[in-house]
Amino acid sequence: MLTVSNYHYIREDFKTKYPSIFGVSPSSFKKQLKLLKNQGDFISSKNLIENEHRILTSKENYILITFDDGLKEQVHFGFSILNELSIPALFFVNSINYQEQKISTVHKIHLLRSKIESEIILKRIESKYISKLKFLDIAKIKAIYIYDDEKSAVLKYILNFILDYKEREEVVNELFSNYFNENEMLNYLYMTTNNLQELAGLGYLGSHTHSHYPLGLLPSKQIANELEHSKKYLENLTKTKIETVAYPYGTEEACTAEVSKLAALAGYKFGFTTKRGVNNNTKNKLLLNRFDCNDIIGGKNYKS
Ligand SMILES: [Zn+2]
Repeated sequence: MLTVSNYHYIREDFKTKYPSIFGVSPSSFKKQLKLLKNQGDFISSKNLIENEHRILTSKENYILITFDDGLKEQVHFGFSILNELSIPALFFVNSINYQEQKISTVHKIHLLRSKIESEIILKRIESKYISKLKFLDIAKIKAIYIYDDEKSAVLKYILNFILDYKEREEVVNELFSNYFNENEMLNYLYMTTNNLQELAGLGYLGSHTHSHYPLGLLPSKQIANELEHSKKYLENLTKTKIETVAYPYGTEEACTAEVSKLAALAGYKFGFTTKRGVNNNTKNKLLLNRFDCNDIIGGKNYKS
């Protein structure tokens, strides 16, 4: 059986004016790794690719550590702690940050929300797209974003699932340029291409698609393009094979059966969702379950 623990932000200090960036501290990351060490054997993506049948059907627990979004702090803190403990990992990055020198909209949203109230962003959206906001299922929204207050959860849901990507980018870009310098934040936020090459050389690099969109909501042609383009870009950059993908958001809507088929067609061997659970007797290795690090042993929401 395979247990996957996924991480995003890892920094010493999460204090911002409006708390909207969440993650783990380096010390709690290290603590969690030590707890996990007692629960199974850490594996790399190379181990998984070479021994997939044994790992996915064994009674023994194999553990894979993953990071999404290609953040610089993941190398700075995460990678160095992993090295110290001799634990392999897999880092999923978006090619848009390198090829187009753009910050992913999802990160622009995190940054904006750390600086201005959700309310201001919601009002801007309401003034432009009120007709799209009539039938929101608040209970469902709260069930998806269990760590957010209601206003922030509604804002996230509208941004991720109600507005189409053009509408979302329009609202977010307009606000973002009022508060941040994109180039400066790009360098601050993301790994360097040297980092990507180093990780890829170890077999630690995977694709998080090109633009960080919820794939299941896109037309087929665009889904295929998001999967293929990022794979080729990262392969060219690193001169390695990119065989794993983590689907942005990872929810059911984002990870449909069609998405998994197109990922296989693009040449990926394993695909990761954010559906909670271990993987045993897995039917589709392009739709693997993955825990958020908060939900497993040592995580802040873990109940034994
Ligand atoms: Zn992501």
